[in-house]
Amino acid sequence: MIDLSAVKGQGQAVGILSGFLESGRVPHALVFSGPEGVGKRFAADLFARAIFCRAQGAVPCFSCDSCRKIERGAFPDLIHVEIAESKTRILIDQIREIERIVAYHPFSGDSRVIVIDPADLMTEDASAAILKTLEEPPAGTHFILVTGRAFSLPPTILSRCQKVRFSPLPGPVIAEILGGGREAQDAAEMARGSLARARLMVSGGLVSAQEQMVETLSEMGLNDPIGIQKLSESVTKYKVDIFDIIDILKCWYRDLMISRETHREGDLVYHRLVKDFGGRWAQTSIRSLIESMEAAQQIERILTSRMHLNMRIALEALFIRLVELKYNQ
Ligand SMILES: [Zn+2]
Repeated sequence: MIDLSAVKGQGQAVGILSGFLESGRVPHALVFSGPEGVGKRFAADLFARAIFCRAQGAVPCFSCDSCRKIERGAFPDLIHVEIAESKTRILIDQIREIERIVAYHPFSGDSRVIVIDPADLMTEDASAAILKTLEEPPAGTHFILVTGRAFSLPPTILSRCQKVRFSPLPGPVIAEILGGGREAQDAAEMARGSLARARLMVSGGLVSAQEQMVETLSEMGLNDPIGIQKLSESVTKYKVDIFDIIDILKCWYRDLMISRETHREGDLVYHRLVKDFGGRWAQTSIRSLIESMEAAQQIERILTSRMHLNMRIALEALFIRLVELKYNQ
C-alpha cells in the first residue's frame, strides 16, 4: 500500500502519484506545479521516499534502510538542486554536476530522484542543459521539477514532463494543519490556499497586524494624527512584509464592497472581521471604498519602484488617506 496521505488537501495530485507508484511506471520527468506553499516540495520528498522504500507493507515505511538514510539526508540517490546561498538562480554548474552523476548507475539500487526546486529559476543555460538530459533520459532517473510558476518554464521542457497540478489548499485543511484555534483559522482564511503563507502569518504576527489595523481604522475618528502615527508604528513592529500589509488592506476593502453590494458571505476573505467591524463603515460610500482600494494599490506601485522609501512614512500617508475616505460619504 502506498501512503501519501500526509500530503493534505491534494487528492487529485496524490491520486496521480499513487497511480504511478502502484503501476510501477514512474515517469522520468515530472513537473509539480501550483501555488507557493501548498505542499509541492513536501509531496516530492514523500513521493521519492515511496520510490526508494524497501518495505513490503505501507510505503514509505519511514523505518527501512532507505527511509532512514533519506531522513538523515544521507541517501545518495535523492538529490536536491536548489538556489545556492547568495545566488538568485539555479546555475549551469549545478546542472553539469547532475549530468555527471546521472552518467553512472544509481548507488543504492535502480532508481535515482532529482528534485529541482524552484525549477522556474534555472538560468537559461541551466534550462537548456536540463532539456538535453530530459531528451535522453538516463535509465532509472526521475526528475521532479517543482515550480510555482510553470508558465515560466520553457515549453520545450514542459512538453517532456508529466504534469502534476497542486491546488490552493482549502481553508479548513490549513487551519487543521496549524492546530486549529482562532489564530489558525484567521490565518487560514487569509492565506488564499497557501500553508506557507498561513504559517508566516501566525509566526510573523500578520494575523495580529491585520486585526489591529482593521479594528483601529474602523474606530478611528477624523484628524487623529497621533492615532495614525501609533498605528503605523505598531504595524511596522510586526515582522511582516509591507506588501502583505497592503494586501490585507486591499482584501479588507474588497470584502466591504462585496458585503455591501452582493451580501454573498461565501465570497468574503475576512468573515469574522466584516461581521465585527463592517458596521462601522456603513456610512462610507462605495465610491470611497473603491478609492481606498486604489490608494492602497498606488502605494504598492510606488513601493515597488522605490524600495528605499521609508515603510512607516509610506504607511502613515496611506492610513491618513484611508481615514479621510472612510468619512467621505
Ligand atoms: Zn521504507
